[in-house]
Amino acid sequence: MNALASTHRNFRHAARLLNLDPKIEKSLLMPYKEIKFECTIRKDDGSLVSYVGFRVQHDNSRGPMKGGIRYHHKVDHDEVNALAELMTWKTAVVNVPYGGAKGGIGCSPKDLSVVELERLTRVFTHKIHDSIGVNIDVPAPDMGTNAQTMAWISDEYSKLHGYSPAIVTGKPIEMGGSLGREAATGRGVVFATEALLEEHGKSIKGLTFVIQGFGNVGSWVAGLIHERGGKIIAVSDVTGALKNTKGIDIPALLEHKETNGTLRNFDGGDMINADELLIQECDILSKKGVIILPDIYANAGGVTVSHFELVQNNQHIEWDEETVNAQLKKYMTRAFSSIKSTCRTHECNLRMGAFTLGVGRVAQCTLLRGWGC
Ligand code: GLU
Repeated sequence: MNALASTHRNFRHAARLLNLDPKIEKSLLMPYKEIKFECTIRKDDGSLVSYVGFRVQHDNSRGPMKGGIRYHHKVDHDEVNALAELMTWKTAVVNVPYGGAKGGIGCSPKDLSVVELERLTRVFTHKIHDSIGVNIDVPAPDMGTNAQTMAWISDEYSKLHGYSPAIVTGKPIEMGGSLGREAATGRGVVFATEALLEEHGKSIKGLTFVIQGFGNVGSWVAGLIHERGGKIIAVSDVTGALKNTKGIDIPALLEHKETNGTLRNFDGGDMINADELLIQECDILSKKGVIILPDIYANAGGVTVSHFELVQNNQHIEWDEETVNAQLKKYMTRAFSSIKSTCRTHECNLRMGAFTLGVGRVAQCTLLRGWGC
């Protein structure tokens, strides 16, 4: 089942639990607006190359649409649609005042020079500039994009609409980005894990962990778990997986990755097949079949701190990092207890609890706003 089909299946299940009117259900399934376009740039060698770009705006009942821009060779219509819809439920689960959107370009950013990436980002911005806006749709980083990408989008958009730093989040600190935004998704995963463990009278200290991914999110998760006394026995990245049942020296691995750009050739563990990663014995592992923390909750730290970024931009103030992290913890903990109470009301698991909470909040706003006729 592809990402869009499984997102729709979860949505329909939640709609049944909520007894949603089929008309609302149909309207919530349908994206608000989809844009698909060509992005052609001249490469550094003078040749032309064309990529397909997308921006899907899923729903704006709860506020301006919000979601990242992904540069990855697997980006396609179904994936972007699924991710846009998931943003709608995600922002509702953590109760930040936005709807959902997602965009992307089907390209391999690693094969492009920095100058080519800048050209591509500026072309992309030209294609979407009249559909986004601080009160309409606010992009952010995602896989394959970062604060620099946001700086280019903001600059290109500002040429057309006047200086508008709040047109994106996840931007560089110097341009109004928030402290703690880069670590936010990883930190949110750790706060979500702590909320779950606390419910079972446990803490990260002394437990064993396996982490799939050692990039923007996974490396922060690893560092924060290590800081809290958790033992990480296996990690993976695109180049393979590393195992050490005695516990990986995470600060040393972070340094190795920083210098070499890969987990390979790290002498503090053995390389294993990436497929073996998810069958390691550990305490925290989603596929173990014990408890699954829903992704629309667990990875909501990024968009939550994006909200804090916009709050700071609107007030022309800067929060210190402790304030950002403390607020993030508050939002993640609050969302966990809302999910738990939804699970109790509808007698469902955490994943369905998160969907039902998100879909319920969006449906409520849709009904309150009415249909404009
Ligand atoms: N790309 C992140 C996500 O998918 C952040 C989105 C945002 O901050 O708008 O949650």
